[in-house]
Amino acid sequence: MRKALVAGNWKMHGRITQNINLIDDLVKQLSPIKESVSVLVCPPLVYLNQVSGLLAEAGIEVGAQDVSRFEKDGAHTGDCSAEMLADIGVSYALVGHSERRSEHQDTDAVIALKLKNLLQVGIKPILCIGESLEQREEGTFEKVIADQISNAFSGLSVEELSNVILAYEPIWAIGTGKTASPDQAQAVHAYIRQMLASDYGSEFSEKVTILYGGSVKAANADQLFSQPDIDGGLIGGAALVSEEFTAICRAAATSPKNG
Ligand code: PEP
Repeated sequence: MRKALVAGNWKMHGRITQNINLIDDLVKQLSPIKESVSVLVCPPLVYLNQVSGLLAEAGIEVGAQDVSRFEKDGAHTGDCSAEMLADIGVSYALVGHSERRSEHQDTDAVIALKLKNLLQVGIKPILCIGESLEQREEGTFEKVIADQISNAFSGLSVEELSNVILAYEPIWAIGTGKTASPDQAQAVHAYIRQMLASDYGSEFSEKVTILYGGSVKAANADQLFSQPDIDGGLIGGAALVSEEFTAICRAAATSPKNG
């Protein structure tokens, strides 16, 4: 059985005092359910150390929102390597978020390098994939998603890929308030699992965690997370409001799939 995971992507939000208050609330509110759901928060890079410190022993993990495509150290101004993230105890990192793809020209080739760098240092990459509204409407979205996955995975063995998590995030649903319906999301998750089974084997496809992201809120989380192939969520806006994020984590923890 795949354990539910809920990851909060804070994007470019937070300040020292705001972070203390949010983490304080989350630690209290999540404490009764933390055995049934894995929870992760991804603050901006500059606050990773602060948030790691605040979360020490709280049973909530810390993730980065991105990583450098370059390995280790070097003349790469503004970059932060996977080794540096591992050095401060980061356990997960987003890679290929649609905002990085569109605002920072993260191509599939760049994303493949980032994924490899993270895996080499033992950080679990959360590979974000998803189609635009235009690609959904013209019916090419399955191919778009399959290509994003196989390009990012290129050159890596099934063993090397065993720590990868996927997050299906239709671009038209991110920050727009428009969520994919549970049926629409489940159909894509099932398609991804089927594509992974045929390219990487059924053992890998059954084990891999696939999150849904795109305007998830307390009001729609139950229905989304009860779908058989949706293992949790990648949450943007709602991750900044402790009651909302906790309710989403609770929906994942109490999903009938969790037994
Ligand atoms: C995201 O940033 O990954 C995301 C899903 O954002 P939101 O929940 O705000 O749509």
